[in-house]
Amino acid sequence: PSGRTPLMAGNWKMNLDHLQATHLVQKLDWTLRDGKHDFGAVEVAVLPPFTDLRSVQTLIDGDRLKLEHGAQDLSAHDSGAYTGEVSGAFLAKLGCTYVVVGHSERREYHQETDEVVNAKLKAAYKHGLTPIFCVGEGLEVRQAGEHVAHVLAQVEAGLKDLTAEQVRTIVIAYEPVWAIGTGEVATPQDAQEVCAAIRTKLAELYSGDLADGVRVLYGGSVKANNVAAIMAEEDVDGALVGGASIVPEEFASICRFR
Ligand code: PEP
Repeated sequence: PSGRTPLMAGNWKMNLDHLQATHLVQKLDWTLRDGKHDFGAVEVAVLPPFTDLRSVQTLIDGDRLKLEHGAQDLSAHDSGAYTGEVSGAFLAKLGCTYVVVGHSERREYHQETDEVVNAKLKAAYKHGLTPIFCVGEGLEVRQAGEHVAHVLAQVEAGLKDLTAEQVRTIVIAYEPVWAIGTGEVATPQDAQEVCAAIRTKLAELYSGDLADGVRVLYGGSVKANNVAAIMAEEDVDGALVGGASIVPEEFASICRFR
């Protein structure tokens, strides 16, 4: 899609201990190389639980793997009395490129509002991390036909007070909640409709030039057998993959979508 390098990002969610993580990263790298994966043409990132990050970093650095890695969440705060939280500063030290912000599971189970998401996006930039900023509507909103308005409101609220310089590097993931972990994938046209609307919103809020460069991913039950049709859409620049990302052969096939 018009000069934007596709990104395939694997959200492992709360799965795999550090030994399993090490195994998966090695197997994924081996499978991708075996398929002569061109990492310059399609970027591949893994997003393990916090407790796996050190092992994954060590493997990637030690073996000079071309995979990127990142975390699934971060604290809005830099440091201090926030028991159980993990700061962006720590993630940066663990070599993270990316951090997911505003995943629907965080919004739903941890009451993350648009304001919290906005604070976390700011924290990510403060620590030099690239956010994968998630937005998406639930089933009722979709059935009411209000999905585009809902998602654009999330985009606008999440990006509040961020500078164009920051937003230029952001990754936005459109993840309809009804399609996450349900096996119910959005149609390519559904994905395109919302991803294109997000890009138009970015053009309105910042500039057409900025909007053209931002990667907008689709997420929600992406598998090896449905990724090609979704990736054929003009405004879809990659996928945020949950369940299928912890099966190395399946995730490698997703990365080889063409
Ligand atoms: C996700 O967790 O971001 C996701 C898209 O999950 P799944 O691929 O399992 O639907």
